[in-house]
Amino acid sequence: MKYPKEVNAYCPNCRKHTLNKAKSASKGKARPMAMGNRKHERKLMGHGGKRAGEKTVKKQGKRQKIILECSVCKKKQERVIGTRTKKKIEFNA
Ligand SMILES: [Zn+2]
Repeated sequence: MKYPKEVNAYCPNCRKHTLNKAKSASKGKARPMAMGNRKHERKLMGHGGKRAGEKTVKKQGKRQKIILECSVCKKKQERVIGTRTKKKIEFNA
């Protein structure tokens, strides 16, 4: 999927349309000792049962997320674009 590097988009902070820089959103590193992760690990111990995070049906592809950075106030917003795709997002020059 292709997307322009700069787009004119609404900035909730400036409350108007401004020029925004687009880049792909990336997940940060998972913290293995975070409370939620420890809780989840505990649930995975033992036998069977329905457990969170184990999917029986895998979705085809993911919805691409981008980060828009306002050129005026430098605030960032997330935006989901398009539908589920297997291809990674590309930014036009
Ligand atoms: Zn702004």
